Amino acid sequence: MRRMELPAFDVRTTYTTCISIARPAAKSRLKNLEDAVVKAGEEYETAAKNHTLHDLTDIAARPSDLTDRKQLKKVYTDRMAKKGTPGHEIYNAIKNAAEDLCPLCGIGKVETLDHQLPKGSYPLLAVVPANLVPACRDCNTGKADASPAAADAQALHPYFDEFSGTPWLAARLVRKTATTPMTARFFVDAPSAWDPAFVARLQAHLDLFNLSERYALQVGSHLSTLSFMFAALPGGSDEDGVGRLLASHAEGWTHTNPNSWESALYRALAADSWYIGGGWRQATGLQPAAVAPEEPDLMTDQLPV
Ligand SMILES: [Zn+2]
Repeated sequence: MRRMELPAFDVRTTYTTCISIARPAAKSRLKNLEDAVVKAGEEYETAAKNHTLHDLTDIAARPSDLTDRKQLKKVYTDRMAKKGTPGHEIYNAIKNAAEDLCPLCGIGKVETLDHQLPKGSYPLLAVVPANLVPACRDCNTGKADASPAAADAQALHPYFDEFSGTPWLAARLVRKTATTPMTARFFVDAPSAWDPAFVARLQAHLDLFNLSERYALQVGSHLSTLSFMFAALPGGSDEDGVGRLLASHAEGWTHTNPNSWESALYRALAADSWYIGGGWRQATGLQPAAVAPEEPDLMTDQLPV
């Protein structure tokens, strides 16, 4: 998960650019809604700064006319998301600001814009730039049309929430069993001084985008690679060497992004004495679940003679 700067496009310019190519009848209807869109955009920004997006139920109720609601949603789908439309340049600029990496998960490639509050329920916010967040396909599909029902159910907002300076994502190693490989579970472990409502939102974010499971999928091949690296450490794979290497990786990843899955994983590994003491050998898939007293040197054994 990563913070992003709020897009520099103002609501009125974005909306009028999008509707500029509408046919006269639709344009006149949409022009009548312009002030309501701008007002909703202002209310949205204030609520996002105050972490009260779940309270914007009156915006969801406006406008009441069903044709108006449908036309507003189409401003996004037909006049902003669609290639070749004037609004698409703004769409691309907001999307490209993420430099390809999804800010919601930190692992997917950006493919679309996600409505932080869904356009289905909040048509006035369909093209409000502050409500449009670059997202990968998995994050966008997983969230679908979910609206936060309470303050602590709101996903993190990359433009408005401060969540990336201090580690709060943690991991725990899950040992190999007879049928499952070694993996890790990811969970929230925030500083105890943090506001419990915000900590609940961190958990809501993990749950909403299924991040614990998606991060766990990345772990297996990573642990296997580490296992081969440790086996090849010069001077033997002693605990000090493995421990030092893990500590420096944990520090490096944490420095880059304290809440990436790699940061959380390496902090967990660097603190796990069982893993450092030889548990890492299980991750190759070549070792039995119990560590034998006399371990062969994996790398040497596998090199052609
Ligand atoms: Zn994503």
